[in-house]
Amino acid sequence: MEKSYESVWQNCLSIIKDNVSAQSFRTWFEPIKAIKFADNVLTIQVPSQFFYEWLEEHYIDLLKKTIKKELGASGRLEYNIVMENTYNNSKPYTVSVPTSNKKAVGNPSVAMPLDINTNGIRNPFIIPGLKKINVESQLNPNYSFENFIEGECNRLARSAGFAVSNKPGGTSFNPLFIYGGVGLGKTHLMHSIGIQIKNQFPNKTVLYVNAEKFMHQYIDSVRNNDTNDFIHFYQMIDVLLMDDVQWFAGKDKTQDIFFHIFNHLHQSGKQIVLSADKPPVEMQGMEQRLLSRFKWGLSADLQAPDLETRIAILQKKVYKDGIDFPKDVLEYLAYSITNNVRELEGALISLLAQSSLNKKAITLELAKSMIDKFVKNTAREVSIDFIQKIVSDYFQLPIELMKSKTRKREVVQARQIAMYFSKSLTKASLASIGAHCGGKDHATVLHACRTVNNLMETDKRFKIYIEEIEKKIAVV
Ligand code: ADP
Ligand code: MG
Repeated sequence: MEKSYESVWQNCLSIIKDNVSAQSFRTWFEPIKAIKFADNVLTIQVPSQFFYEWLEEHYIDLLKKTIKKELGASGRLEYNIVMENTYNNSKPYTVSVPTSNKKAVGNPSVAMPLDINTNGIRNPFIIPGLKKINVESQLNPNYSFENFIEGECNRLARSAGFAVSNKPGGTSFNPLFIYGGVGLGKTHLMHSIGIQIKNQFPNKTVLYVNAEKFMHQYIDSVRNNDTNDFIHFYQMIDVLLMDDVQWFAGKDKTQDIFFHIFNHLHQSGKQIVLSADKPPVEMQGMEQRLLSRFKWGLSADLQAPDLETRIAILQKKVYKDGIDFPKDVLEYLAYSITNNVRELEGALISLLAQSSLNKKAITLELAKSMIDKFVKNTAREVSIDFIQKIVSDYFQLPIELMKSKTRKREVVQARQIAMYFSKSLTKASLASIGAHCGGKDHATVLHACRTVNNLMETDKRFKIYIEEIEKKIAVV
């Protein structure tokens, strides 16, 4: 009996629901409507082009697996995209899911990710005499250098990465060890290096792999009795990009295998790029001999981007997608989300989704209500940048002046107030507050806090200023 599209999609939804967070499910799956099911092809309607791209980028694996589960290997999914009126096009049109849309850079012949293989050959390492050309680089073309905004926060890591790309294995940056907190661009930068190398040296075998995946591949190889193939596979790579090596902590066997692969590659002059959430010296549960090798080359960190960089990142994103985005809203996002680029992008995306779904204009109001929901669970902390913005608005001073070294009286006082609030409302150190506020040292910040406290006790008008500013900071 032919199934109905409703029931097929319902079944898919129940699978999907178990695999994504409630928030994602609500945002990205509830708005989808199934509209057709014929010849084992399910057609779903999505509210916008943007929505479609988001699904493709983030949920394609899940969708593929779900469809396969529900409809078997021959099952297919098609999108029907409702084009927005802003694009002067009210007719919906349909696109099929490109099953191999994530083309490998420099290697278009093999487009399937390593772990999903059309022929049912799960592990490509077991193919004897594996030709170089068969190595799929696993690179995401969106994560290019071009799309990686440069700032003070990433200058060293970025330029080291760039140097490595121009001369893989030929610089003293081997390994290049990139470290930094979540969402700061480690993975992006590693892909950039791989893409750049592939562009310049198409014959080099580049492989990006996450340490966790490496570990599972290794475990599988033990189970399948082909650990030698596994090792040989990795030993023939010219440029190995190993992401998130903190995963190796406490995994002695995996570390051991990686140690041998590392040595082989390094001795043969191959380039190794590693990333982790902390520098080698702070890593726990790692063998000393491996850690010491991590320190052979260059360790470069990625820090939380400053305000200008955050704005530039958002602008780039908006520009790339050709979206008309109000400047004040963009700045508001950049002010509000300070220490994680992924969250910053997430907020932008949710805002776009909200506005396209509800056909509402992108306004500051919408952004505020969304940010509250979006950032709540990450315990939003007021940022120094944001405090500076509020204080400078309050006194109608350009924010650049507050950040400058000027000693003009009215600026000095505003700056002291910003320091005072930064101290009481953020977890930032005195030194970093000083650095944000005109490049002052920690003693100056301390002095500012005392001055503000004293003035509040002696000057009624001043006290009112402080209370009003405090309200403004708290409101947002
Ligand atoms: P990490 O691996 O450090 O957790 P990612 O590389 O996954 O972080 O970055 C998170 C998101 O932020 C990605 O979408 C990435 O493109 C984006 N991103 C991070 N840094 C930058 C940057 N400097 N310029 C542009 N996009 C960035
Ligand atoms: Mg990462």
